[in-house]
Amino acid sequence: MDQINVEAILKEKDLKVTPQRKAILSVLAGTRAVMNVQELFQEVIKILPGTNFSTVYRNLDTLLARGLLCRISRETGGDLYELRREEGHHHHVICKGCGASIPVKFCPLEAMAAELAGKGFLPTEHHFEVYGLCEHCRGKRER
Ligand SMILES: [Zn+2]
Ligand SMILES: [Zn+2]
Ligand SMILES: [Zn+2]
Repeated sequence: MDQINVEAILKEKDLKVTPQRKAILSVLAGTRAVMNVQELFQEVIKILPGTNFSTVYRNLDTLLARGLLCRISRETGGDLYELRREEGHHHHVICKGCGASIPVKFCPLEAMAAELAGKGFLPTEHHFEVYGLCEHCRGKRER
C-alpha cells in the first residue's frame, strides 16, 4: 500500500486540516475497498472516539466536493466512497469478493455520444459500474 500523506492532500485542496478529515482520509487510504457511510463511520470512531455520525457525513460531502473522493451510487441505495486515485473522469469496477474498486478510464457515454446528439439529447449525468471478481478473488475460486 502506498503511503499517502493525508495532511498534504488536504492542504493541496485548501482545506483546513481537522482530526475528523484526517481520520476519514486515513481510513480510505488504508484500503482498496469501497465503503458505505456506516462502515466508514465505524472505522473513524476507532481512530477518533466520540466523533458523531453527522460530522463524518458532512465532511464526506466536503471532501467529495473538493475532488478528494469518488462516490459510487448504487440503485439499492447507500452510496459507496473511496479515495480518488485516478485523475479525470473515470468509472469503477467493483469486486464482489473483497470489495476492491478498480478505476477504469473507459466511459460508455463517449461511445453513445454520436447517437445521443442525433436524438438531440443532452446528457447531464450518468453512472456506470461493473460488479464482478478481481484477479485475486478469481484465483481463489478457480483453484
Ligand atoms: Zn474513482
Ligand atoms: Zn477481489
Ligand atoms: Zn463516464
